[in-house]
Amino acid sequence: MQALVYHGPGDKQWESKADPSIEDPNDAIVKIDTTTICGTDLHILKGDVSTVNEGRTLDHEAVGTVVETGSAVMNVQEGDRVLVSCISACGRCMYCKRGMYSQCLNGGGWILGHLVDGVQSEYARTPFADNSLYKVPEELSDEQVLFLADILPTGFEVGVLNGAVKPGNTVAVVGAGPVGLAAIMTAKLYGPGRVVAIDLADSRLESARAFGADVTINNSSEDAVERVKGMTDGLGANVVMEAVGVPATFELCTELVRPGGHVANIGVHGSPVTLHLETLWIKNITITTGLVDTSSTPTLLKLVSEGRLDATPFATHRFKLEEIMDAYDVFSDAANTNAMKVVLSS
Ligand SMILES: [Zn+2]
Ligand SMILES: [Zn+2]
Repeated sequence: MQALVYHGPGDKQWESKADPSIEDPNDAIVKIDTTTICGTDLHILKGDVSTVNEGRTLDHEAVGTVVETGSAVMNVQEGDRVLVSCISACGRCMYCKRGMYSQCLNGGGWILGHLVDGVQSEYARTPFADNSLYKVPEELSDEQVLFLADILPTGFEVGVLNGAVKPGNTVAVVGAGPVGLAAIMTAKLYGPGRVVAIDLADSRLESARAFGADVTINNSSEDAVERVKGMTDGLGANVVMEAVGVPATFELCTELVRPGGHVANIGVHGSPVTLHLETLWIKNITITTGLVDTSSTPTLLKLVSEGRLDATPFATHRFKLEEIMDAYDVFSDAANTNAMKVVLSS
């Protein structure tokens, strides 16, 4: 089969590789029908994720068809159309039992395209198939569910649920990339009073409005803290979500939040951040962090099925799977191409 293989920083190839086979009774083999590229793949290609070995097939988001199952797999069978989740879960350990699949103790968590081969390939081996694959309702297209593999549950769980968004809240989202937009879209499920999107790029702020932001602030030309305080009687936002992953945006979040409010960090950070406890200790704020568990995936699938959530606007570019090298060029040059998510179909 063909696969997109990481060969060290800056080096990837679409090349032939042995077909995957069942290695454990809990595995399934999935023919990949639709996949995408994640910002995380770009981090790996920059060399930021040292746990990814050379020779690894990248990515962790796909919709496909089960072609083979191990002897212990009960929940899916050959021919089933499935969503391949970015998180694999053994389903049996202490963390899996409480739905915190990201911290699976038996070799689950974020492993696809990281510690085992991922899904930018014609076929993929998916460990712990019973708890990591989700059957796709027949009436839904691949594109309708593809983004439920990662960005939708990430924005929803790590941003909206961890941030405890409540009706009437002022919610500020710093960073209007795909995950920030997913947080904006799913925050609207809770009836916030107003969602404020903050970013440096006008094109992303335009997208934020399309995804449901009520107010947009370009903080290269405006003072975001002043504006948010101005619309909240000087208090700040109830919930602030960090969806960038750099020190400046995290610190901005701690300035935007009101006393008693909540900072939900979604961004993937690569360097230390200053936590200004000298001003924060007295403000009764809560700060949460997290890797997505994907425990909300069944709920999100139901919302898509019922027409309450439409994730298709994330797809800005479409390619055939074998054109994946071109797709990477477009996705990694988002500033010029305005790419949000690319869809790769076999
Ligand atoms: Zn991802
Ligand atoms: Zn587990």
